[in-house]
Amino acid sequence: MYDIIIKNGRIIDGSGMPAYLADIAIRGGKIARIGKGLAGDENTRIIDAAGLAVTPGFIDSHSHADSAVLTYPDQIEKVEQGITTSIAGQCGGSPAPISRDINPASTETVGEYGRRVEIMRTMGSFLGVAKDVPQGANIAILVGHGNLRKAVMGMENREPTAEELEQMKALLREGLEAGALGLSFGLIYPPSCYAQTEELIELAKVAGEYHAVVAAHIRNESESLIRSVDEFIRVIRESGTRGVISHHKAAGRENWGKVNATLRLIDEACAEGVDLFCDVYPYIASSTSLSSRFIPKECCTGGNAGIVKLLSDPIERQKIKERNIRTRGWDQSMVLITVCSAYRQYEGKFLPEIAELHGKDVHETALDLICDSKNNVRACYFTMCEADVETVLAYPRAMIGTDSGVRGTMNCYHPRLRGTCPRVLGRYVRERGVTTLPEMIRKMTSMPAAVYELTGKGLLREGFDADICVFDPDQIIDRAEFVNCHNRAEGLNYVLVGGEVVVENAVYQGKRNGRVLLRRVER
Ligand SMILES: [Zn+2]
Repeated sequence: MYDIIIKNGRIIDGSGMPAYLADIAIRGGKIARIGKGLAGDENTRIIDAAGLAVTPGFIDSHSHADSAVLTYPDQIEKVEQGITTSIAGQCGGSPAPISRDINPASTETVGEYGRRVEIMRTMGSFLGVAKDVPQGANIAILVGHGNLRKAVMGMENREPTAEELEQMKALLREGLEAGALGLSFGLIYPPSCYAQTEELIELAKVAGEYHAVVAAHIRNESESLIRSVDEFIRVIRESGTRGVISHHKAAGRENWGKVNATLRLIDEACAEGVDLFCDVYPYIASSTSLSSRFIPKECCTGGNAGIVKLLSDPIERQKIKERNIRTRGWDQSMVLITVCSAYRQYEGKFLPEIAELHGKDVHETALDLICDSKNNVRACYFTMCEADVETVLAYPRAMIGTDSGVRGTMNCYHPRLRGTCPRVLGRYVRERGVTTLPEMIRKMTSMPAAVYELTGKGLLREGFDADICVFDPDQIIDRAEFVNCHNRAEGLNYVLVGGEVVVENAVYQGKRNGRVLLRRVER
């Protein structure tokens, strides 16, 4: 008989088709039947979904819960917003591979993994351990280009030799053979940003051999946004693989509106047969390191220790400061410091206010924060506009991603950590009407399942995995804020992972029924 029957719900099946009324019966972790008037026996749990929407579990197209697979497998922040599968290893950074002869510059990046360094040597050894760790939600991993480069060339700012390029390709192949889903670029972050387009094409071709996805945090999301989209389209066209532009946006007031041009570029490329998508999160603020805006890329070749060394040298520091004043003419008042290990008292405050407390100008203050925290400083940048966010959210080839890891107890981070999916459904579908509910659900389910080739996921169909959300479309809303980023969303009644109820009335029940998903290896 059936384990669970979800009765009388409005089925929004993930395909984009309108809702219909039906019951869903679950057995052995799968959707066994969809129909009217389904009945169980005395062992069947009945979930009354009258008046509620029943959808496939949400897929986080862009997650940074990388090493959390080992360190924080419950992934509460994901499941409590309805996410049942995540795609991690984005923006050029993955938990593995890590070079055998780690150079001193990269050891601190490895630091958080501590004793686990040996596990992280190759994607194969990492996935070999991770696949046996039960997860709160399913998770799949991409191979980070930054890892490939760091493993082969350290933090060096130059082109690879032919031999080094072959070594990077071999590491990528190893990762894809081991079950990673694809490749990711992080072209604003060192050392990924030191690569020329040709290197990206060569590596994307390897992903193409496996029919695997290539995702990219493109080179620039502000003044060179259009050129950066063009570059990535070229990479995808010439490598013949499938591409995803990560967290698509236009940053900086003078660039607002440019997403209309970039989405047209994507459409034109697709019309010529290029297979291209993007993902987006529903906020006007981004979140990344403070150094990504205040330390020039060419100053990052020594890793965190190198940055601290430069900032401790008055002459070098002055050069960086002058360069920032010259080239970063943007409004400093939109920088919110969220994590700052040396000055916890500044967390949750904007940079000008911190500068006042700190007794120096904003530039000196920013450099102090970075130097004294050994580059462990994160910030939110309020650089986008609502109109652009809505344009990208509504774009038919845009998927929804949190662009967030899981953060345990950290109070101040970015609300996308917990609010992304409920906010898309509450604010942008119900309140703002940017698109229909079935269409938005498609962007959160069957579209990413197809792009990342997650078989048996993303649709409510007999035989598919019973990863399911039950929620009230009239109530669902995010409550997470920039300072109180852990406020739970409201209106999410049930989340099922693999046929088990893992969230009830918005609260995680402690059952880890997900796993690390491996790419089906076929060529
Ligand atoms: Zn990114």
